[in-house]
Amino acid sequence: MAETSTEPLRIVQLYPRDMNIYGDWGNTLTLKRRAERYGLAVEVHDHNPGDPWPEHADLFVGGGGQDSGQFRVAEDLAAVAGKLHDAVARGVPMLAICGLYQLLGKSFRTGGGETLQGIGIFDLETVAGPERLIGNIVTESPELGTIVGYENHSGLTHLGAGQQPLATVVSGAGNDGQDGTEGARTANVLGSYLHGSMLPKNPDVADFLLSAALEVRGEALPEKTFDDTLAERAREVASFRPR
Ligand code: GLN
Repeated sequence: MAETSTEPLRIVQLYPRDMNIYGDWGNTLTLKRRAERYGLAVEVHDHNPGDPWPEHADLFVGGGGQDSGQFRVAEDLAAVAGKLHDAVARGVPMLAICGLYQLLGKSFRTGGGETLQGIGIFDLETVAGPERLIGNIVTESPELGTIVGYENHSGLTHLGAGQQPLATVVSGAGNDGQDGTEGARTANVLGSYLHGSMLPKNPDVADFLLSAALEVRGEALPEKTFDDTLAERAREVASFRPR
């Protein structure tokens, strides 16, 4: 039977200096706070370009950024790609928002016409469109329920034929504003355009990431004994659509 150890849960925040807009750091804070409420000890480790790769990582989180931020991290991301692919293969969970989500795909062609190579965890390509897609977004995931957030991206993301999306769009634009998909999922890696930040009002997504992280260690998320009304209420309010 899975047990909970006293080893701290190690959350690695990828590129907080360059890739952290619209409050994306709140995702890490939410994971840390929820894990603590479940009775787990937590360590948060920042990884910025050029830093030595952390020895232990149970969960990776990364945020969005302007095109310029994406250019600043792309080289380091390529250098650590092998380690990230290994982690993905072991089932280690990851949440990548917007700019980092794009870089976990194959490539991103910016509005300036330059192409950034991604690391191919997701089978998808992104090309900047003529206008930014901006606004509140409500999506529905078969596994994680309603996921709400705020999007602001120039990139239009096209999923490869076999690539599973994270969710389908109920209202808002999503991957390309056309095909009705939002984000991507490969193993326990979730990519999404949803800022907000995403996790404070999507507790099921946060708990999925925590559970997956513990599962890799042969442990399980303890039973929830804390009051989650505020997070649930936030999701409800953000998903309300006047008829
Ligand atoms: N620079 C990328 C784009 O505009 C990502 C933006 C973001 O992370 N919000 O599509």
